[in-house]
Amino acid sequence: MSLLHIDGSQGEGGGQIVRSALALSLVTGRPIVIERIRAGRAKPGLMRQHLTAVQAATAIGQADVRGAEIGSPRLEFTPRGIHPGSYQFSVGTAGSATLVLQTVLPALLIAECPSELILEGGTHNPWAPPFDFLEQAFLPLIRRMGPQVTVTLDNYGFYPAGGGRFAVQIDPQPRLAGFDLLERGPIQRRAVLGLVANLPRHIAAREVERILEKCSWEPAVGRVEAIRAHGPGNVVFAAMASKHVTEVFTGFGRTGASAEKVADEVVRQIRDYLGDDVPVGPYLADQLLLPLGISAWQSRGTSLPGGGSFRTGPLSRHATTHIDLLRQMLGVRIDVDTVEGRAACTVSVQAD
Ligand code: ATP
Repeated sequence: MSLLHIDGSQGEGGGQIVRSALALSLVTGRPIVIERIRAGRAKPGLMRQHLTAVQAATAIGQADVRGAEIGSPRLEFTPRGIHPGSYQFSVGTAGSATLVLQTVLPALLIAECPSELILEGGTHNPWAPPFDFLEQAFLPLIRRMGPQVTVTLDNYGFYPAGGGRFAVQIDPQPRLAGFDLLERGPIQRRAVLGLVANLPRHIAAREVERILEKCSWEPAVGRVEAIRAHGPGNVVFAAMASKHVTEVFTGFGRTGASAEKVADEVVRQIRDYLGDDVPVGPYLADQLLLPLGISAWQSRGTSLPGGGSFRTGPLSRHATTHIDLLRQMLGVRIDVDTVEGRAACTVSVQAD
């Protein structure tokens, strides 16, 4: 197969293009070259976290690779099949381990045998899916597509100390079923959880209290926990479960941001989600595109259904960049329909 050229600087131009291009190269078997990697970022090229994703994809694809170095602006990647099995991948810093999973999970979902992964690094990093989001929001939808995936957290890993670790069990299904997620329906369960590691408990307590108060949720749904981790860490989650989907919104505690500020960031996400009256929030929208794209791609030229649709709020630049990449690499059709005067949209992913 000929080498497919990917422009790493297109659209939002971040690490997502690298991870998704690798994931889709593994799935389709198509060799790729990614150029101008993260060209618009302050520190362009591959960073440690992206490099671990490249190494993980290389192992699972038994791939030939060129340019797999820190700072590299260009990567050539030629996979030789999908090789499920037992693997351990360590980011080596507090870089996000969940983003490494994002890179290799799609191929392992449709592999011929089960896999077991151990991932080490950050488990609760800003700008990455926190473990709890994976477990409660993302993976239940993946299971709806056929593969059975479970995750177990062994250690929390926060920036900058890292030291996190989780295990992933993947029982694949060669063909991903699609789904439609167009209505949210009433919220059936709400929960707010504030975590602190090596920091005063009152930080998480103030976050939880403020979210509950501002959203007028009953105090009984709030919980505070002091956990063990290598270094200091604080994170607060708001989960909302409705009939067909659970969404998880996260606030990341950090130096210089008060507990109240972190709580307000979560409140804003909750209000946007409820205000848009959609089942799928912005991060989930971003992350569902890839499995739905694969499902649509697998159904091409068959009479079997594949792909699907979901309703979400306004698409981020991140999501539109992702859509362009999926169109290029899978040749699937992705339509985004907006209703005039409303922010929400329907995204549908089909074979052609
Ligand atoms: P760069 O450093 O080039 O900006 P990156 O590799 O750090 O890129 P992004 O391209 O920003 O990563 O992608 C981040 C990923 O993490 C996306 O898949 C996004 O949906 C997900 N993500 C970010 N924040 C959250 C969150 N709070 N909850 C769930 N998922 C999240």
